[in-house]
Amino acid sequence: MNTLPDLQTSKTMNTAVTTKPVPITSNFAIGSSEVVLMAGPCSVESYAQTRAAAEAVARVGGRVLRGGAFKPRTSPDSFQGLGQEGLEILRDVADEFGLLVITEALAVEHVPLVARYADIIQLGSRNMQHYPLLWAAGELDKPVLLKRGFMSTIDEWLKAAEHISSRGNTNIILCERGIRTFETATRNTLDTNGIALVKQRSPYPVIADPSHATGRADLVLPAARAALAAGADGLLVEFHPDPDNALSDGQQSLPLSKLPHFVAEMGKITAVFNRTFT
Ligand code: PEP
Ligand code: MN
Repeated sequence: MNTLPDLQTSKTMNTAVTTKPVPITSNFAIGSSEVVLMAGPCSVESYAQTRAAAEAVARVGGRVLRGGAFKPRTSPDSFQGLGQEGLEILRDVADEFGLLVITEALAVEHVPLVARYADIIQLGSRNMQHYPLLWAAGELDKPVLLKRGFMSTIDEWLKAAEHISSRGNTNIILCERGIRTFETATRNTLDTNGIALVKQRSPYPVIADPSHATGRADLVLPAARAALAAGADGLLVEFHPDPDNALSDGQQSLPLSKLPHFVAEMGKITAVFNRTFT
């Protein structure tokens, strides 16, 4: 059943929907007054690299460790991720520091495996309209983070979320990660309009990924500020112990040493809205 208001009908345009928090554990939800940090490397590369990230995320009070084990890379010659070994590393180091894990399921056949290790299943931008994958995630009893396709409209994004909910799973978090525009100075364009609009039109929490939205480490902080000012319920951000030598997305990854400053800056923005950040 279609539970989302039609973006095109003026009838629904003036009625803002209240965000329904998505429970992740018994005492932690996304979409409340606590704005959530999900941080870590683009890819899980090694135990030491991922452990360093987990330690840094935990030290600033972050709750969720990110890291890709199955990587959707533009070139087949690029690093494709460690697969199951990457999932094991993520789980190990997250447990050591009391963190939750978000990681991507790239293919339908990976879904049960990823669900064994992850607390939140990430569905990537390139897969936003991979309906069998959405259905498989919709069968799970686990929260799903649905990234916006980089060439998808807001309407297509919300319809994709309905594919997940149509199979029973309504624990959905939406993630604006930048869309492709005519601009080439940045990797993508962060659609802050989209964050604000989806917050009004959908009950699902909306988070932002300023790393993929900008593609440039020097723009991640200002883009993250803008996302929170637009109402985002959280951030998914790439941090790496050694960005210059990262196996993926080093150019947009902030060094772990910048995490405390990043969190402090985000706290200033959320305080304006009577929210907290970590
Ligand atoms: C990621 O967050 O690891 C990722 C691959 O992002 P996207 O799907 O937005 O490109
Ligand atoms: Mn990345």
